[in-house]
Amino acid sequence: MKEKSVLIKRVLPQSIAEDAGIEEGDKILSINGDIVMDIFEYRFLTTNANLLIEIEKADGEIWEIEIEKDEYEDIGIEFEDLMLDDPKSCKNKCVFCFIDQMPQGMRDTLYFKDDDTRLSFFMGNYVTLTNIDYNDIDRIIKYRMSPINVSVHTTNPELRVFMLKNKSSGDILDKIKALVQGGITVNCQIVLCREINDGKELDNTITALSELYPNLNSISVVPVGITQYRENLHMLKPYDKNSAIEVIKQVENLQLSFLKKYQSRIVYLADEFYIMSDFDVPKYESYEDFPQIENGVGLIALMINEFENYIREINIDLNVKRRVSIATGVSSYKYIKQMANTLENKYKNLNVIVYKIKNNFFGENVTVTGLVTGGDIINQLSGEVLGEQLLISRSMLKADQDLFLDDYDLNTLEEKLGVSIMVVQNNGKDFVDKVLGVI
Ligand code: SF4
Repeated sequence: MKEKSVLIKRVLPQSIAEDAGIEEGDKILSINGDIVMDIFEYRFLTTNANLLIEIEKADGEIWEIEIEKDEYEDIGIEFEDLMLDDPKSCKNKCVFCFIDQMPQGMRDTLYFKDDDTRLSFFMGNYVTLTNIDYNDIDRIIKYRMSPINVSVHTTNPELRVFMLKNKSSGDILDKIKALVQGGITVNCQIVLCREINDGKELDNTITALSELYPNLNSISVVPVGITQYRENLHMLKPYDKNSAIEVIKQVENLQLSFLKKYQSRIVYLADEFYIMSDFDVPKYESYEDFPQIENGVGLIALMINEFENYIREINIDLNVKRRVSIATGVSSYKYIKQMANTLENKYKNLNVIVYKIKNNFFGENVTVTGLVTGGDIINQLSGEVLGEQLLISRSMLKADQDLFLDDYDLNTLEEKLGVSIMVVQNNGKDFVDKVLGVI
């Protein structure tokens, strides 16, 4: 175990830990005699009502602290790093892997292929379960690491071995069964590759997974992302209008049968399928409780719903005078434009120019707003009318920093385009407020 791995970052005020004399900068050596290997063990070990915690103080002194508390009561410690050890990387070579098709020269962390159930639990990452065995599954169940998001792609063992290029990846259905039988909620993702795991294979996969409902909570189907850097990789065919319509018909039929049988649709299609087909995205209600919103499934319907509800109830001066521009990805352009038009119709002195940013960085097949880069915005908007402010989506930036995927930052964008930039969160209320300039 690494020394840094047990460093206490923060002790919550008025917590049990603070009362016991535990301080920021202390290190936990053991709890009830067990070494803390990661956050799950820490959580599990501290569920006990009686704790004997061995602490190394900043001056090197060793303390043994006895704590009596309620079972499951949190003692109030936060760690430097939630993982406490390095995240597990994947053991696959998926034929559709997006990381393998990224250009060179991007920041190192973007090339890291994580496949760690702990990151799934904490951050919602999707994992293939190929680097865990049934002992690990028992541990997930014991530590109640629920929900877990799983990249399934297919339940056909031979096809999965082919798609993941991993000979031990075929037992996915058994692993998911073990998890759901152990009380773990599982959300599944299928990255759909044309003429590989779609058609009959898709029917079989969705049907096999649906039989594990309700602990198998939801299934999302997302189209494979194909960049212009696919060199020496398995040939993949992008979805187009007609093939996207086929997928929509197939999955919506399954939704209808699941609604009858389980009172839930269980399976949901990524917004991109509807955009490719030129169909409107399904209504808000069709996503039920939006089980895969973090995966971008239902994002447009949710945003439109928030937008419509908010503009019905707000009371903002109708004379607001403002000219702004919005940079958005190709896939969400239609909906952003519709919302901008609605606002322009209501606020007569408002002028919103919406720009569709083509993804030259990854290639034109990549249309989602979250993968738009700073360089593409600069190249495509230089010399354009941008108004008082240019609005961009938060999804284009790194989670913890105002940095695009190509490492451009907001200051550089502002300098190059000569306009101030405003970042809009992915919700209808923030969109309205930022367009109207009320915050
Ligand atoms: S599991 Fe994910 S990161 Fe690993 S090869 Fe497959 S797609 Fe890439």
